[in-house]
Amino acid sequence: MAKSKYEYVKEFETDDRMLRNVYVLVRIDGKGFHKFSQTHDFAKPNDVRGINLMNHAARCVMNELDDILIAFGESDEYSFLFRKSTDLYQRREAKIVSTVVSLFTSAYVYYWNDYFTELKRPLYPPVFDGRAVLYPSEVEVKDYFAWRQADTHINNLFNTSFWALVEEGGLTPKAAEARLCGTDSKDKNEMLFTEFNTNYSKLPAMYRKGSVLLREQIPKDADKDAIIPTLPETLPGSKSAKVTPAPDTTTIALQSGPDPISEPVSEAPSGHTTPVAVASPVVSQETVMQEGIDSNSHSESMKRSIDASEAEQQDAEGEPVAGKEAPTFKRMKKGVVIDHIDIIGEKFWAGRGAYILAPEKKKKLRS
Ligand SMILES: [Mg+2]
Repeated sequence: MAKSKYEYVKEFETDDRMLRNVYVLVRIDGKGFHKFSQTHDFAKPNDVRGINLMNHAARCVMNELDDILIAFGESDEYSFLFRKSTDLYQRREAKIVSTVVSLFTSAYVYYWNDYFTELKRPLYPPVFDGRAVLYPSEVEVKDYFAWRQADTHINNLFNTSFWALVEEGGLTPKAAEARLCGTDSKDKNEMLFTEFNTNYSKLPAMYRKGSVLLREQIPKDADKDAIIPTLPETLPGSKSAKVTPAPDTTTIALQSGPDPISEPVSEAPSGHTTPVAVASPVVSQETVMQEGIDSNSHSESMKRSIDASEAEQQDAEGEPVAGKEAPTFKRMKKGVVIDHIDIIGEKFWAGRGAYILAPEKKKKLRS
Protein backbone atom coordinates (compact mmCIF):
# COMPACT_ATOMS: atom_id res chain seq x y z
CA MET A 1 0.00 0.00 0.00
CA ALA A 2 1.32 3.39 -0.92
CA LYS A 3 2.32 5.62 1.91
CA SER A 4 0.52 8.88 2.36
CA LYS A 5 2.58 12.01 2.27
CA TYR A 6 1.71 12.52 5.92
CA GLU A 7 3.24 9.32 7.11
CA TYR A 8 6.60 10.90 7.79
CA VAL A 9 5.22 12.28 11.07
CA LYS A 10 5.50 8.79 12.52
CA GLU A 11 9.25 9.26 12.41
CA PHE A 12 8.88 11.80 15.20
CA GLU A 13 7.94 9.05 17.64
CA THR A 14 10.78 8.10 19.92
CA ASP A 15 11.85 4.57 20.67
CA ASP A 16 11.22 4.14 24.38
CA ARG A 17 11.84 0.41 24.64
CA MET A 18 13.34 -0.27 28.03
CA LEU A 19 16.61 -2.09 28.58
CA ARG A 20 16.32 -5.86 28.40
CA ASN A 21 16.93 -8.30 31.23
CA VAL A 22 16.31 -5.90 34.09
CA TYR A 23 13.34 -5.63 36.41
CA VAL A 24 10.68 -3.15 35.41
CA LEU A 25 8.95 -1.50 38.33
CA VAL A 26 5.85 0.57 37.67
CA ARG A 27 4.51 2.75 40.46
CA ILE A 28 1.20 4.54 40.23
CA ASP A 29 0.37 7.37 42.58
CA GLY A 30 -2.80 9.30 43.29
CA LYS A 31 -2.74 12.92 42.21
CA GLY A 32 -4.21 15.31 44.74
CA PHE A 33 -5.51 12.52 46.94
CA HIS A 34 -5.40 14.70 50.01
CA LYS A 35 -8.27 16.67 48.53
CA PHE A 36 -9.88 13.57 47.04
CA SER A 37 -9.97 11.80 50.41
CA GLN A 38 -11.35 14.89 52.13
CA THR A 39 -14.06 15.40 49.53
CA HIS A 40 -15.12 11.78 49.86
CA ASP A 41 -14.99 11.83 53.63
CA PHE A 42 -12.36 9.14 54.03
CA ALA A 43 -11.95 7.97 57.62
CA LYS A 44 -8.74 9.06 59.34
CA PRO A 45 -6.06 7.88 59.62
CA ASN A 46 -7.13 4.93 57.45
CA ASP A 47 -10.25 4.27 55.45
CA VAL A 48 -10.72 0.56 54.99
CA ARG A 49 -13.04 1.10 52.02
CA GLY A 50 -10.45 3.20 50.24
CA ILE A 51 -7.67 0.68 50.91
CA ASN A 52 -9.78 -2.26 49.79
CA LEU A 53 -10.73 -0.40 46.62
CA MET A 54 -7.05 0.28 45.89
CA ASN A 55 -6.32 -3.40 46.46
CA HIS A 56 -9.13 -4.42 44.15
CA ALA A 57 -7.91 -2.13 41.39
CA ALA A 58 -4.38 -3.48 41.78
CA ARG A 59 -5.69 -7.01 41.58
CA CYS A 60 -7.37 -6.16 38.29
CA VAL A 61 -4.02 -5.00 36.96
CA MET A 62 -2.32 -8.21 38.06
CA ASN A 63 -5.08 -10.35 36.63
CA GLU A 64 -4.69 -8.62 33.29
CA LEU A 65 -0.90 -8.50 33.12
CA ASP A 66 0.60 -11.91 33.79
CA ASP A 67 4.17 -10.64 33.86
CA ILE A 68 3.62 -8.80 37.14
CA LEU A 69 5.19 -10.87 39.90
CA ILE A 70 4.26 -8.90 42.99
CA ALA A 71 2.51 -5.68 43.84
CA PHE A 72 2.68 -3.57 46.96
CA GLY A 73 0.23 -0.87 47.95
CA GLU A 74 0.00 1.77 50.62
CA SER A 75 -1.95 4.98 50.91
CA ASP A 76 -2.69 6.23 47.39
CA GLU A 77 0.13 4.39 45.64
CA TYR A 78 0.77 0.93 44.23
CA SER A 79 3.97 -0.64 42.91
CA PHE A 80 4.04 -3.42 40.33
CA LEU A 81 7.13 -5.49 39.62
CA PHE A 82 7.40 -7.07 36.17
CA ARG A 83 9.53 -10.11 35.49
CA LYS A 84 12.94 -9.40 33.99
CA SER A 85 12.07 -11.11 30.75
CA THR A 86 8.79 -9.37 30.12
CA ASP A 87 8.25 -8.60 26.48
CA LEU A 88 4.99 -6.79 26.97
CA TYR A 89 4.62 -4.19 24.21
CA GLN A 90 8.24 -4.96 23.32
CA ARG A 91 9.04 -3.26 26.65
CA ARG A 92 7.89 0.10 25.38
CA GLU A 93 7.78 2.30 28.46
CA ALA A 94 4.89 4.56 27.55
CA LYS A 95 2.69 1.65 26.54
CA ILE A 96 3.38 -0.31 29.72
CA VAL A 97 3.04 2.61 32.12
CA SER A 98 -0.08 3.98 30.46
CA THR A 99 -1.72 0.56 30.43
CA VAL A 100 -1.10 0.04 34.14
CA VAL A 101 -2.28 3.53 35.06
CA SER A 102 -5.32 3.38 32.83
CA LEU A 103 -6.45 -0.04 34.00
CA PHE A 104 -5.86 0.82 37.64
CA THR A 105 -7.79 4.07 37.38
CA SER A 106 -10.71 2.63 35.47
CA ALA A 107 -10.95 -0.28 37.93
CA TYR A 108 -10.87 2.19 40.82
CA VAL A 109 -13.87 3.98 39.40
CA TYR A 110 -15.59 0.83 38.11
CA TYR A 111 -15.55 -0.86 41.53
CA TRP A 112 -16.02 2.33 43.53
CA ASN A 113 -19.61 1.59 44.53
CA ASP A 114 -18.73 -1.91 45.77
CA TYR A 115 -16.84 -0.21 48.58
CA PHE A 116 -18.36 3.24 48.94
CA THR A 117 -21.85 1.85 48.82
CA GLU A 118 -23.60 5.08 49.72
CA LEU A 119 -22.14 6.91 46.75
CA LYS A 120 -22.87 5.70 43.24
CA ARG A 121 -19.64 7.04 41.84
CA PRO A 122 -16.85 9.40 42.89
CA LEU A 123 -17.81 13.06 43.04
CA TYR A 124 -15.13 13.79 40.47
CA PRO A 125 -12.72 11.62 38.47
CA PRO A 126 -9.69 10.48 40.46
CA VAL A 127 -6.30 10.83 38.78
CA PHE A 128 -3.27 8.58 39.07
CA ASP A 129 0.12 9.18 37.52
CA GLY A 130 2.69 6.51 36.80
CA ARG A 131 6.37 5.94 36.24
CA ALA A 132 8.64 3.07 35.35
CA VAL A 133 11.96 2.44 37.04
CA LEU A 134 14.49 -0.19 35.98
CA TYR A 135 16.31 -2.20 38.61
CA PRO A 136 19.31 -4.25 37.54
CA SER A 137 19.43 -6.76 40.33
CA GLU A 138 17.64 -8.47 43.18
CA VAL A 139 19.38 -6.19 45.66
CA GLU A 140 17.64 -3.08 44.37
CA VAL A 141 14.32 -4.87 44.05
CA LYS A 142 14.41 -5.96 47.69
CA ASP A 143 15.51 -2.53 48.81
CA TYR A 144 12.81 -0.90 46.75
CA PHE A 145 10.04 -2.82 48.50
CA ALA A 146 11.74 -2.32 51.87
CA TRP A 147 11.77 1.40 51.13
CA ARG A 148 8.06 1.51 50.35
CA GLN A 149 7.12 -0.58 53.38
CA ALA A 150 9.31 1.51 55.67
CA ASP A 151 7.48 4.51 54.26
CA THR A 152 4.17 2.86 55.08
CA HIS A 153 5.27 2.35 58.67
CA ILE A 154 6.57 5.88 59.13
CA ASN A 155 3.49 7.49 57.61
CA ASN A 156 1.00 5.29 59.38
CA LEU A 157 2.58 5.76 62.79
CA PHE A 158 2.63 9.49 62.26
CA ASN A 159 -0.95 9.61 61.00
CA THR A 160 -2.22 7.37 63.78
CA SER A 161 -0.54 9.60 66.36
CA PHE A 162 -1.67 12.78 64.66
CA TRP A 163 -5.33 11.79 64.47
CA ALA A 164 -5.31 10.46 68.02
CA LEU A 165 -4.15 13.88 69.19
CA VAL A 166 -6.75 15.66 67.06
CA GLU A 167 -9.78 13.43 67.44
CA GLU A 168 -9.28 12.08 70.94
CA GLY A 169 -6.90 14.61 72.39
CA GLY A 170 -8.84 17.61 71.13
CA LEU A 171 -5.75 19.31 69.69
CA THR A 172 -5.90 21.45 66.59
CA PRO A 173 -4.08 19.99 63.58
CA LYS A 174 -1.41 22.63 64.01
CA ALA A 175 -0.94 21.82 67.69
CA ALA A 176 -0.85 18.10 66.95
CA GLU A 177 1.84 18.61 64.37
CA ALA A 178 3.85 20.72 66.78
CA ARG A 179 3.46 18.05 69.44
CA LEU A 180 4.84 15.38 67.11
CA CYS A 181 7.66 17.51 65.81
CA GLY A 182 11.01 15.94 66.67
CA THR A 183 9.54 12.71 68.00
CA ASP A 184 10.85 9.33 66.89
CA SER A 185 8.84 6.16 66.49
CA LYS A 186 9.51 5.08 70.08
CA ASP A 187 8.08 8.38 71.36
CA LYS A 188 4.98 8.00 69.23
CA ASN A 189 4.42 4.39 70.31
CA GLU A 190 4.80 5.47 73.93
CA MET A 191 2.41 8.38 73.51
CA LEU A 192 -0.23 6.23 71.85
CA PHE A 193 0.05 3.66 74.60
CA THR A 194 0.08 5.93 77.64
CA GLU A 195 -2.22 8.70 76.47
CA PHE A 196 -4.61 6.90 74.16
CA ASN A 197 -4.48 3.33 75.41
CA THR A 198 -3.47 2.18 71.96
CA ASN A 199 -0.98 -0.58 71.35
CA TYR A 200 0.24 0.38 67.92
CA SER A 201 1.53 -3.09 67.12
CA LYS A 202 -1.98 -4.45 67.61
CA LEU A 203 -3.52 -2.22 64.95
CA PRO A 204 -4.46 -3.99 61.72
CA ALA A 205 -1.47 -5.16 59.73
CA MET A 206 -3.06 -3.75 56.58
CA TYR A 207 -2.58 -0.26 58.01
CA ARG A 208 0.89 -0.84 59.45
CA LYS A 209 2.40 -2.94 56.67
CA GLY A 210 0.46 -2.09 53.55
CA SER A 211 -0.88 -4.71 51.15
CA VAL A 212 1.10 -7.30 49.24
CA LEU A 213 -0.35 -9.05 46.21
CA LEU A 214 1.32 -12.33 45.33
CA ARG A 215 0.76 -15.09 42.81
CA GLU A 216 -0.01 -18.23 44.73
CA GLN A 217 -2.38 -21.13 44.67
CA ILE A 218 -6.06 -20.41 44.84
CA PRO A 219 -9.06 -22.64 44.28
CA LYS A 220 -9.48 -23.34 40.62
CA ASP A 221 -13.07 -22.22 40.55
CA ALA A 222 -12.50 -19.05 42.55
CA ASP A 223 -13.88 -15.96 40.97
CA LYS A 224 -11.34 -14.05 38.91
CA ASP A 225 -11.73 -11.07 41.16
CA ALA A 226 -12.02 -12.97 44.40
CA ILE A 227 -10.18 -11.70 47.41
CA ILE A 228 -8.04 -14.47 48.77
CA PRO A 229 -6.88 -12.86 51.96
CA THR A 230 -4.77 -15.51 53.51
CA LEU A 231 -1.45 -17.24 53.66
CA PRO A 232 -0.89 -19.98 51.13
CA GLU A 233 -0.41 -22.75 53.64
CA THR A 234 -3.87 -22.11 54.96
CA LEU A 235 -5.40 -22.62 51.56
CA PRO A 236 -7.46 -25.72 51.54
CA GLY A 237 -5.78 -28.54 49.77
CA SER A 238 -2.29 -27.29 50.41
CA LYS A 239 -0.03 -29.88 51.97
CA SER A 240 0.61 -27.84 55.05
CA ALA A 241 -2.97 -26.79 55.68
CA LYS A 242 -3.62 -27.07 59.37
CA VAL A 243 -6.71 -28.73 60.71
CA THR A 244 -6.44 -27.23 64.15
CA PRO A 245 -6.07 -23.49 64.24
CA ALA A 246 -3.02 -22.32 66.11
CA PRO A 247 -3.61 -20.15 69.15
CA ASP A 248 -4.39 -16.54 68.31
CA THR A 249 -5.60 -17.36 64.86
CA THR A 250 -8.89 -16.08 63.69
CA THR A 251 -11.16 -18.33 61.80
CA ILE A 252 -12.95 -16.50 59.10
CA ALA A 253 -15.97 -17.65 57.25
CA LEU A 254 -15.57 -16.45 53.72
CA GLN A 255 -19.15 -17.14 52.85
CA SER A 256 -20.52 -14.31 54.91
CA GLY A 257 -19.66 -11.65 57.41
CA PRO A 258 -17.49 -8.61 57.07
CA ASP A 259 -14.60 -8.37 54.71
CA PRO A 260 -11.91 -10.53 56.26
CA ILE A 261 -9.33 -7.90 55.55
CA SER A 262 -11.12 -5.35 57.62
CA GLU A 263 -12.03 -7.71 60.40
CA PRO A 264 -9.16 -6.87 62.73
CA VAL A 265 -10.26 -3.26 62.60
CA SER A 266 -12.52 -3.93 65.56
CA GLU A 267 -9.37 -4.00 67.67
CA ALA A 268 -8.70 -0.40 66.86
CA PRO A 269 -9.75 2.08 69.46
CA SER A 270 -12.78 4.10 68.60
CA GLY A 271 -12.11 7.46 67.14
CA HIS A 272 -9.14 6.34 65.09
CA THR A 273 -11.00 4.84 62.24
CA THR A 274 -14.48 4.42 61.03
CA PRO A 275 -14.30 0.96 59.62
CA VAL A 276 -17.05 0.03 57.29
CA ALA A 277 -17.83 -3.60 56.69
CA VAL A 278 -17.81 -4.07 52.99
CA ALA A 279 -19.47 -6.86 51.14
CA SER A 280 -16.47 -7.57 48.99
CA PRO A 281 -16.47 -10.20 46.33
CA VAL A 282 -15.44 -13.32 48.13
CA VAL A 283 -14.75 -16.90 47.36
CA SER A 284 -18.07 -18.55 46.90
CA GLN A 285 -17.24 -21.96 48.29
CA GLU A 286 -18.41 -22.85 51.73
CA THR A 287 -15.17 -22.92 53.54
CA VAL A 288 -13.13 -21.41 56.26
CA MET A 289 -9.62 -20.20 56.25
CA GLN A 290 -7.29 -19.31 59.00
CA GLU A 291 -5.60 -16.02 59.38
CA GLY A 292 -2.54 -15.05 61.31
CA ILE A 293 -0.44 -18.15 60.83
CA ASP A 294 3.08 -17.78 62.12
CA SER A 295 5.24 -16.63 59.27
CA ASN A 296 7.89 -19.14 60.36
CA SER A 297 5.93 -21.70 58.47
CA HIS A 298 6.63 -19.93 55.20
CA SER A 299 9.63 -22.10 54.49
CA GLU A 300 7.26 -25.00 54.21
CA SER A 301 5.29 -23.21 51.57
CA MET A 302 8.45 -22.78 49.56
CA LYS A 303 8.61 -26.48 49.05
CA ARG A 304 5.28 -26.41 47.37
CA SER A 305 5.12 -25.80 43.74
CA ILE A 306 3.25 -22.71 42.75
CA ASP A 307 2.82 -23.94 39.28
CA ALA A 308 -0.81 -24.56 38.54
CA SER A 309 -0.37 -27.54 36.28
CA GLU A 310 1.85 -29.22 38.78
CA ALA A 311 -0.63 -28.50 41.50
CA GLU A 312 -3.38 -30.05 39.51
CA GLN A 313 -1.24 -33.04 38.78
CA GLN A 314 -0.47 -33.48 42.44
CA ASP A 315 -4.13 -33.35 43.17
CA ALA A 316 -4.87 -35.94 40.55
CA GLU A 317 -2.25 -38.17 42.09
CA GLY A 318 -4.06 -38.02 45.37
CA GLU A 319 -1.67 -35.89 47.33
CA PRO A 320 -2.75 -35.60 50.92
CA VAL A 321 -5.11 -32.77 51.56
CA ALA A 322 -6.13 -31.32 54.87
CA GLY A 323 -7.95 -33.51 57.33
CA LYS A 324 -11.67 -33.97 57.46
CA GLU A 325 -12.36 -30.70 59.21
CA ALA A 326 -10.27 -28.74 56.77
CA PRO A 327 -11.96 -27.39 53.71
CA THR A 328 -10.90 -28.95 50.49
CA PHE A 329 -10.86 -27.76 46.95
CA LYS A 330 -10.55 -30.23 44.17
CA ARG A 331 -8.33 -28.17 41.93
CA MET A 332 -5.92 -25.34 42.39
CA LYS A 333 -4.55 -22.73 40.08
CA LYS A 334 -2.24 -19.81 40.39
CA GLY A 335 -4.02 -16.64 41.31
CA VAL A 336 -3.63 -13.35 43.09
CA VAL A 337 -3.47 -13.56 46.87
CA ILE A 338 -3.47 -10.59 49.21
CA ASP A 339 -1.65 -10.35 52.50
CA HIS A 340 -0.21 -7.79 54.88
CA ILE A 341 3.18 -9.15 55.78
CA ASP A 342 6.73 -7.99 56.27
CA ILE A 343 8.55 -7.70 53.00
CA ILE A 344 11.52 -5.98 54.59
CA GLY A 345 14.34 -8.45 55.11
CA GLU A 346 15.41 -11.80 53.79
CA LYS A 347 12.72 -13.85 55.46
CA PHE A 348 10.12 -12.92 52.89
CA TRP A 349 12.42 -13.17 49.87
CA ALA A 350 13.74 -16.56 50.95
CA GLY A 351 10.24 -17.77 51.75
CA ARG A 352 7.02 -16.80 50.08
CA GLY A 353 8.76 -14.31 47.85
CA ALA A 354 11.29 -16.82 46.55
CA TYR A 355 9.45 -17.32 43.27
CA ILE A 356 9.68 -13.60 42.51
CA LEU A 357 13.43 -13.47 42.17
CA ALA A 358 13.97 -17.06 41.12
CA PRO A 359 15.98 -17.51 37.93
CA GLU A 360 13.76 -17.38 34.89
CA LYS A 361 13.64 -19.93 32.18
CA LYS A 362 15.35 -18.64 29.07
CA LYS A 363 12.80 -17.21 26.71
CA LYS A 364 13.36 -16.52 23.09
CA LEU A 365 13.33 -12.80 22.64
CA ARG A 366 11.75 -11.18 19.67
CA SER A 367 14.17 -9.70 17.24
MG1 LIG B 1 -0.17 10.77 46.00
